[in-house]
Amino acid sequence: MPLGWLTSNGLDSKRTLALPIPPVSANVRPFSPDSSIVSDVIPSPNYGERSKGRVPDMIVLHYTGLPEVQGAIAQLCTSGTEVSAHYIVLEDGRIVQSVPESKRAWHAGVSSWAGEEDINSCSIGIEIVNRGHDWGYPDFPLRQVAAVIALCRGIMLRLNVPSHRVLGHSDVAPARKKDPGEKFPWHSLANSGVGHWVQPAPIVRGDSLKLGVIGDDVRDLQLALAKYGYGVAVSGKYDGPAMEVVTAFQRHFRPARVDGIADHSTLATLHALLSSLPADAMAPR
Ligand SMILES: [Zn+2]
Repeated sequence: MPLGWLTSNGLDSKRTLALPIPPVSANVRPFSPDSSIVSDVIPSPNYGERSKGRVPDMIVLHYTGLPEVQGAIAQLCTSGTEVSAHYIVLEDGRIVQSVPESKRAWHAGVSSWAGEEDINSCSIGIEIVNRGHDWGYPDFPLRQVAAVIALCRGIMLRLNVPSHRVLGHSDVAPARKKDPGEKFPWHSLANSGVGHWVQPAPIVRGDSLKLGVIGDDVRDLQLALAKYGYGVAVSGKYDGPAMEVVTAFQRHFRPARVDGIADHSTLATLHALLSSLPADAMAPR
């Protein structure tokens, strides 16, 4: 980020970026932040009620995927865009809250996890400011990662979110989404008790499952992915959707190679994750 961007706004300029405050709509009320580490509240009109009063027990992490932070905040907080998130984490570590945790923000879109399809009703959405794959996909700065960790830890405590339900948008919408992407440091989060993660199995030469393969090995792979939570058909056929789910799995859990091919490392990592889930993880929620 250019230095001028940080220092162009006068008072207290070292850490302060002027946040764009979209015009207040009639249906937007200010609210008190749910987290003590929120620095700014910019209320978004884009939210509704959680279905059947659902209490959220999942966190979905995103990147904003836009070239400018101002545009990203404006999009999430302006009437008519139909998108929002509970929190926005800036590159300098500041945290903006836009939707109260009790409300249903519109961040996940068509998605599924562990048999549940209304992900917006059961989750807290966090947008991490990053230009994303279409705009050069920069690394996530350490202070931004630290802020995400602190924010998630508070949410997990407040709402009793288990680590294996801290996920990426690509996990719940593998056919449509890449965010937060393979550069997102899930291992750092796990080191601080956020998210379920195991050391990826080493990449070695050997047989692999890939597009077009049909058989019991593919069925077993699909069963394992579905058991972990991914929305994948158990058909025994390694088709396009199966490849997309394997790609999403790799972005999160085996980021050294994201190619949609289920090699030994991918399979071993998946099985290590399954066997390290808490005993009650598969119980109906
Ligand atoms: Zn997203």
